[in-house]
Amino acid sequence: MDDWLIEAREGDRVLDIASATGSFPTAGLACCVIALDEDPDAFADAPDAVGRCWRVIGRSERMPVASASIDLAVCSHALEHFQNLDAALDEIRRVLKPEGRLFVSVPDGYQVCDTLYRWLFQDGGHVNRFRREDLVRRIEARVGLRLAAWQKLYSSFTYLRNIPGLRHWAAPDLQPRLKRFARLPRAAVDGAQAVLYAATRIADRLFATDSAVYGWALWFAPGAGTPKENPPWRNVCLHCGAGHPAEAVGRLSWRRWICPACHRCNPCWLRR
Ligand SMILES: [Zn+2]
Repeated sequence: MDDWLIEAREGDRVLDIASATGSFPTAGLACCVIALDEDPDAFADAPDAVGRCWRVIGRSERMPVASASIDLAVCSHALEHFQNLDAALDEIRRVLKPEGRLFVSVPDGYQVCDTLYRWLFQDGGHVNRFRREDLVRRIEARVGLRLAAWQKLYSSFTYLRNIPGLRHWAAPDLQPRLKRFARLPRAAVDGAQAVLYAATRIADRLFATDSAVYGWALWFAPGAGTPKENPPWRNVCLHCGAGHPAEAVGRLSWRRWICPACHRCNPCWLRR
């Protein structure tokens, strides 16, 4: 997504759909950014808007956005939450300019990361479960764009780190399963995360599986040719969840590495 954001020129409009606190930093961008979310509280924890950024409350299946007005639509970790996915895709088609583009990131609904998330958080708002080929066909048909590039996204199971903090969260509707796990010591949860991180990557290496995959990033554009698969970034920070190319991280020793985003130490550095 970053390359398309950097390419966006002054006067271009980028629509961040189901943005929550924002899918990307807006500082330094030349374009205008419209962050759209249906939850009035979504922007409460958002950092101060930087640059040309507007925050709009509205539903994805009925966007308060003019037709043919958007240069780039961004759906980052959003489509899995949409109750009426086809209506939202139709709206994306309506608001995009004829030369407009679409970036999507979603979880693989059949891999370890999303399966465990749905079990722990009792679906956690994930109402759609995707396979890549099916989702690409659906988006191409409804939005009228073609897949230009894609990339596997890797998991570090960072959502596990939120669980111990829930013991202090007095929500009466907190799921019983989460209440039980929230009583575990933080060290146990952190250890389980590290074991999952390493075990899924080792299993993938031994058995040529995709168990450490979170999902995919998908770039759609008008009339694109053969889709290009971008190399995956397998080194994903256990602490902040940011993924990095192998050559971009600082190495401490044989397999330990420092996250460029949060500067914390991680295990299991992988060259490819
Ligand atoms: Zn980090």
